[in-house]
Amino acid sequence: MEQITIRNYINGEWVDEPGVNYVNLDNPSTGEIVGRVPFCTEKTADNAITAAQAAFESWRKVPVAARTAYLFKLYDLVQANYDDLAYTISYEQGKSPVDAHAEMVRVVENIQSACAAPLVIQGDFLENAGPGIHGEVIPQPLGVCGLIVPYNFPAMVPFWFLPYALAAGNTVVLKASEQVPITMQKIFRLIDQLGLPKGVANLVNGDAKVAGAILAAPDVKAVSFVGSTNVAKIIASSCAATGKRFQALGGAKNYFVVMEDAKMDQVLKSFTTSCYGCAGQRCMAASVIAAVPAVYDQLKDSLVAEAKKLKVGDATDPTVGVGPVISAAHKEKVLKYIETGIKEGAKLLLDGRSVELPEKNKNGYFIGPTIFADVTPEMTIAQEEIFGPVVCLMKIDNLDQALKQIKEHQYGNGASVFTQNGYYAHKFMQECDAGMVGINVGIPAPVAQLPFGGVKNSAFADIKAQGRDVFSFFTTRKIVTSRFFPED
Ligand code: NAD
Repeated sequence: MEQITIRNYINGEWVDEPGVNYVNLDNPSTGEIVGRVPFCTEKTADNAITAAQAAFESWRKVPVAARTAYLFKLYDLVQANYDDLAYTISYEQGKSPVDAHAEMVRVVENIQSACAAPLVIQGDFLENAGPGIHGEVIPQPLGVCGLIVPYNFPAMVPFWFLPYALAAGNTVVLKASEQVPITMQKIFRLIDQLGLPKGVANLVNGDAKVAGAILAAPDVKAVSFVGSTNVAKIIASSCAATGKRFQALGGAKNYFVVMEDAKMDQVLKSFTTSCYGCAGQRCMAASVIAAVPAVYDQLKDSLVAEAKKLKVGDATDPTVGVGPVISAAHKEKVLKYIETGIKEGAKLLLDGRSVELPEKNKNGYFIGPTIFADVTPEMTIAQEEIFGPVVCLMKIDNLDQALKQIKEHQYGNGASVFTQNGYYAHKFMQECDAGMVGINVGIPAPVAQLPFGGVKNSAFADIKAQGRDVFSFFTTRKIVTSRFFPED
């Protein structure tokens, strides 16, 4: 793939900000430079917001079916470029081809789901709300919406929001992750072919500076954010202070609970994809395996055996199960967690720190599958989000103990239980303090037609991403009470 210089897309034009710093982008599988991204300033954000604001009044009046017609066209273009986009995700983000294809499936699903706008964003009418008085509820678009997204899903996370915001009649300024801007650059080349009115969809690039300008702008009416909890808190407080609607999805630490009657072959299959897919850099990755005594020792051996079967290597190789983590800095952070786990007394069953790699991947950011056993809930590796291929195996007495630990944890994104017992399953479904729960499903990440989001430090604000919920986020409900008098 040739080297790429990332550009901004503002008011229907590809533009650059003069004099800004460019930062090199590298392929995490090899460390090779693959392009450069501009770290734009407030000027670029302000230009994009001005364009989006100017486009809003006419875009909101485009009939909703005509707005979604652009999305049908986008669906066709994305399908036609599906393989290239999936390859780009592997190449710039480092997830395996299987994971990159799974991400593209969700992009396509979210476009399809947003095409339901004409049916989903209808309002309500209450006849005779009072004597001769009628009440109406009219969902209306908000205006300019800012989208700020993370590195681990360069295509999918923006599509939890972008198609829905546009279908509902809003205009959009999207800030791509500065670590993985190439996929979104390519998707905006497709958006450029749609013939959308100028200013309806805008793309800006950079780091916290350009994001901060989106947060500060009075014309931005809503912000959808996905990223780390620390930044989610900044987004939440900044939006609250400036009167913006917001949804801010943060970090995670997901439990995978194994009961005595679990189907072990299914547990092992789900364990490898859930814990090591995207090298553990998924907000829905399982990172704590909590097992009851009847299966704990057996799991120690079989988790290690399964993890050892995974091939670690270049993310563009279709036979690879575990690609690199995103950067040298992130690799260092994950390695420090492994050292902390050892220091705190967890037992390192499988050490991924010195994985064998082909020559061309020697400068990539690899950590092989790593497993700690005898982890206890107060250990740092059990408390904090590691966001790498590191699994904490924990012995629990029973389901109640697992539920208690999940409840006491700072995060509450996802959690799964593996059991054939209906009582356990119902209890888990009902009492588990997480936003997304799986029963015999290792990655309980909902499809696009359903809402996506956690609780506690995993999400700030009630309205979730995707599906019907996100249409509620992108519309405000105006209530009209009216009456007319008979002619005299
Ligand atoms: P991050 O918080 O570092 O960055 C996310 C985005 O915020 C980037 O676009 C970044 O430029 C921007 N940003 C950084 N500092 C900012 C600031 N001070 N003000 C405004 N914007 C700022 O996250 P990341 O490392 O890119 O992504 C990984 C994190 O995302 C993990 O914690 C993961 O759990 C989380 N995540 C959560 C979900 C979910 O659904 N809950 C989904 C995907 C990823």
